[in-house]
Amino acid sequence: MIYDFKCIDCNKVFEKNVPARQNSTECPYCKGKAKKMFHATSNMFIPSYFHTSKSDVFSYEEWNKLKKDPNVVRAK
Ligand SMILES: [Zn+2]
Repeated sequence: MIYDFKCIDCNKVFEKNVPARQNSTECPYCKGKAKKMFHATSNMFIPSYFHTSKSDVFSYEEWNKLKKDPNVVRAK
């Protein structure tokens, strides 16, 4: 299964096909350690200038969907 990873060292985000229980991998850019972007609070992507009717906090994956959703309103 393909997961999103974010490098701790260079902050680059990339996708990699890894087993579900593998939580980290080598960054293809700097060879540093990259962590899986979980649906957990510590790794959640929180765009502070966005809000939806359901929640202000969502995962990176949801955030990518929201960016394409014309019904999502940008907070002022
Ligand atoms: Zn890196």
